[in-house]
Amino acid sequence: MVATKHCCWGECKSDSRFPHLLHPALKKRLQEGKPIFLPFPKKSQGLERCLRWVNACGRGKDFTVDKVTKYTYICYLHWPGEAGPPKEFGVPLKATLKPKEVLKATKPKRPQPSQPILQRASVLEKSHS
Ligand SMILES: [Zn+2]
Repeated sequence: MVATKHCCWGECKSDSRFPHLLHPALKKRLQEGKPIFLPFPKKSQGLERCLRWVNACGRGKDFTVDKVTKYTYICYLHWPGEAGPPKEFGVPLKATLKPKEVLKATKPKRPQPSQPILQRASVLEKSHS
C-alpha cells in the first residue's frame, strides 16, 4: 500500500490515485520505475528552503510553511526539463511564471549555486523588459 500523493504546486493536478491523468513525462517516469513525487522540504528541515518551495508553488495565503506536512508532495514536472531538481537544493519553478518566462527559466545555463534564487529571479525580470 502506498499513501496517496498529490502535487501542491500551483494548479497542478498530479495525483497518485489517478495515474492515467498524469502528464506524459510523469507516466514515462513511472514506466521507468522512477519516482514522480518528491516530499516537500519541511519547516523543521530548514525554514528558508521550505519558504522558497512554498513561494514557488504560488498558492498564496492558502499554502504556507505551516501547511507543509510529511504528506505534502510536489511532482517532478516543476523543474526545467520536467525531470526534478538538478541537485538536492534545487527550488521548483515559480507557479506564477508566464509561459514565456518559464521558457527563459528553463534555458540551460551554468549553475550558480552560490547565488540566491531571489536575486536570480530579479535579474530575469530585468533582462525581460
Ligand atoms: Zn505537479
